[in-house]
Amino acid sequence: MDSSHVEHDLVNILFTEAQIQQRLGEMAAQITEDYAGRDLLVVGVLRGAVMVMADLARAMPVHLEMDWMAVSSYGSGTKSSGVVRILKDLDTDISGRDVLIVDEIIDTGLTLSWLVNNLSSRSPASVEIATLLRKPEALSMPVEPKYVGWDIPNEFVVGYGLDYRERYRNLRDIGTLAPHVYS
Ligand code: 5GP
Ligand code: MG
Ligand code: MG
Repeated sequence: MDSSHVEHDLVNILFTEAQIQQRLGEMAAQITEDYAGRDLLVVGVLRGAVMVMADLARAMPVHLEMDWMAVSSYGSGTKSSGVVRILKDLDTDISGRDVLIVDEIIDTGLTLSWLVNNLSSRSPASVEIATLLRKPEALSMPVEPKYVGWDIPNEFVVGYGLDYRERYRNLRDIGTLAPHVYS
């Protein structure tokens, strides 16, 4: 493979494009069933959740609305700063709405537990979370996603929306980076 090709930097693929689509289809079916007859607002967490939102929403053959929030909890590297800030708020008034937050990964759970608290204070009918990936540390946080694609080991993964220094989001698969990328 050409060394300029972005996939060249992946050493280990955890989930292929096909596996991701299959799992999102299963999650979408469950969500569609659970929210039948309700007025669903799906909130994507920018920027990592863009791919998950696009595919999950299209796998749900029901009326729904989509909105986006941007929060920051990480710097440009691989470690959490422990600080959550709203960079872009919702455009939608969520009072009385059934809100489903869509994210690509829960690591420490800091971002989403903060976000659930924040959105809950706006009088929604409900707030739930769908995440494609969850790491072990999140299990000890007060954040309980209703829908989880996979639990994964405590490794830094990229692809399918997940970045390292804003790169690799456009990979179709999810995997880990070769050590040479970090050095
Ligand atoms: P948390 O607040 O749960 O610790 O982290 C949430 C955010 O950290 C995710 O939305 C994502 O942006 C980033 N993050 C956590 N783990 C990973 C990872 O393994 N790979 C990448 N690329 N980002 C991660
Ligand atoms: Mg995210
Ligand atoms: Mg990131």
